[in-house]
Amino acid sequence: MIKMIELPYTLNSLEPYYSRETLDIHYNILYKGYVDNTNKTEEKLAKARLENDFQNIKCLERDLAFYGSGAILHQLFFENMGVPVPTMPSTKLMEQINKDFGSFDKFQNQFVEASKAVEASGWCILAWVSKFNKLEILQCEKHQNLTLWGCIPIFVLDMWEHSYFLQYKANRAEYINAFKNIINWKVINKRFEEITLV
Ligand code: MN
Repeated sequence: MIKMIELPYTLNSLEPYYSRETLDIHYNILYKGYVDNTNKTEEKLAKARLENDFQNIKCLERDLAFYGSGAILHQLFFENMGVPVPTMPSTKLMEQINKDFGSFDKFQNQFVEASKAVEASGWCILAWVSKFNKLEILQCEKHQNLTLWGCIPIFVLDMWEHSYFLQYKANRAEYINAFKNIINWKVINKRFEEITLV
């Protein structure tokens, strides 16, 4: 059984950049749905093994990837948001960003443009790709498509309409710009530190 994480802040603490109503629906209904459906899928897989009945296996493996990735990305998302207090990448992460993207500005430009250009429902992700020994920006469609194997996401931005439409309507650029105020770089720095310690 996987469990929902507790929100590390109250529902209204990301205002005005991320509204209470959006966060409430996003966390309490949508994120809960992904966690519940991941657990239901695991139960169905256990039942299939027990009964040696694999006629729905293709569907179940697909559900595991979709709901499971949805649960994981939402956990990362809620954790890498925070109260609107300015934070920045640590010296170590900034050095890596400079090395891999040229500068923090160039990283931001690529991230913003990649976010705006996510096709349909998906995510924009900053990930450590250990096989390449570098950071990469990835667009993700749905929750599980368009990845590099072995990547470890350290910062994720939800580009599904449910994450911004109530507040920003179809203006993705405004949502992304507002989001910069509630990125918790302390959490992202810690994730990067933990990866590179291994
Ligand atoms: Mn979402």
